[in-house]
Amino acid sequence: MLEPNDHRLRQREYLLEISRALTEQLDLGSVLSLVIDYAVRMTSGTSGLIALYDEENSGELRISASSGLSRDDLPAFVRLLSLTPSDIPQRGDAILREIATDTGLTLRQMSALPLTLRDTPVGMIFVFRAALNVAFSNDDRRVIKEFADQAAIAVSNARLYQSVLREKQRLDAMIEQSADGAMIIDSRWRITTFNRTMEQLTGWSREEAIGRPCAEVLGIHNLQGLNICLHDCPLQRRPTVTNPVVEGRIIARDGRELFVQSRYAPQRSPQGKLLSAIANVRDITLQKQEEVLQNTFISVISHELKTPVSIIKGFAGTLSRKDVEFGPAQIRDGLAVIEDEADRLARLIQDLLDVSRMTAGGIRLEFADIPLPALAADVVRSFAPTADERFEFQLRFPDDMPPVQGDYERCRQVLANLISNAVKYSPEGGTIRIGGWPEDDYAVCYVADQGIGIPPEEQEAIFHRFYRVDNRLRRETQGSGLGLFITRAIVEAHGGHIWVESQVGRGSRFVFTLPLGRHKLAE
Ligand code: ADP
Repeated sequence: MLEPNDHRLRQREYLLEISRALTEQLDLGSVLSLVIDYAVRMTSGTSGLIALYDEENSGELRISASSGLSRDDLPAFVRLLSLTPSDIPQRGDAILREIATDTGLTLRQMSALPLTLRDTPVGMIFVFRAALNVAFSNDDRRVIKEFADQAAIAVSNARLYQSVLREKQRLDAMIEQSADGAMIIDSRWRITTFNRTMEQLTGWSREEAIGRPCAEVLGIHNLQGLNICLHDCPLQRRPTVTNPVVEGRIIARDGRELFVQSRYAPQRSPQGKLLSAIANVRDITLQKQEEVLQNTFISVISHELKTPVSIIKGFAGTLSRKDVEFGPAQIRDGLAVIEDEADRLARLIQDLLDVSRMTAGGIRLEFADIPLPALAADVVRSFAPTADERFEFQLRFPDDMPPVQGDYERCRQVLANLISNAVKYSPEGGTIRIGGWPEDDYAVCYVADQGIGIPPEEQEAIFHRFYRVDNRLRRETQGSGLGLFITRAIVEAHGGHIWVESQVGRGSRFVFTLPLGRHKLAE
């Protein structure tokens, strides 16, 4: 027999060991096994068990840890769990005898105490004895209660841990599925979380990005080319803004250039030191492009409208002067200028209407069989009065060129735009060739000049709205940058393609395809 002092000492050691287990590991099962083992040992029991209310399934008690019992014996103890604590004094002994009979175990005494967590029952602890005449004393029950308290703490820890874990998983899922880029950085500006959208935006994989400084992965540059994240991090600025926002350009790893907006939600210590921050990154490239387009639209239109209007006003004003007598030739010339400029205005307005129609959802085409050689000859004839002797036009179509399927006026517009550009962008003149040939179900056509040419990096952009190559001729020639946008929209509405082959200083060849006529398709 242990002396009372030894007993207290042993109990303290056990409790200490349990609290160590509580701080070191959060595995509830192991802590509860330790608790029931020591509770049985400290109260001279032979076996015991801890059952917890199952929160997720109807709140029933379920065995969570046992001591001195084999796994096969446990089902027999389930009937004990249906008793409420108040049932135990009356019915506990009878049930214990039934269990003893079923399992063949010697079970003669039982002590059952509730596990409570801040007055809420979370389970029961049972300790069994084999000795017949040694009932559990109040002292024993006090000891079991102390172990029960430890078990309740273990349950509380585990539940807290579970709920934190669940909350974290919920948060992780929210961050991961966010349509915006989201990343979390730590107090040293290193990335700890990087969602899928961030991977798509930056081209960095999560594995590579995590652990790196955010300025290296995101690197937002301002218009002057300064890496704001590196040299002017909004989270470091004083005085600190609560939720700083940064806008600028990033270059993704695959070379894509994007315009992004990054909004930060920092967490700081009471002293203001950064603990961590969530960054929400949004791709605003399209929005920025729209803004630029809007501005270009206004400046192009105001410029293009202003020039003819002021010429018309100038000539009209001059011709209507009462103090000057104009000869018929002067009046004719003046009126011709007014007419030309009015035509230019009308063309520009038509182009603008076309563009808004095309961006709003396409154009209506009226299909017919069109003989391209005749149409090209007709367009060339209409240029004759404007194109001087510096130009020679050549038409190159095979004699048996089949007709194309298309809208006559729109096909005429395509050829007129391309030939007008060939003239406009060939300041030295030269030969302009217009030709084509049938290929499978399409007619391949071209308009080639010997003009200034287009640098390779501009050859896609010239088909965009309002885009004009920035060169000397841009300032010298009139233009709104709408012609090729409209031309491409028309060709594509016919199911064709258009592209340019060009060398700076040598000339350009615009090639486009149009579907061949019905009889060719039917062959
Ligand atoms: P615009 O001629 O009114 O400027 P376009 O859309 O027709 O508009 O052409 C866009 C730009 O493409 C022009 O400003 C010019 O820089 C370039 N471009 C078009 N055609 C040619 C050409 N044949 N040779 C050289 N540059 C061309």
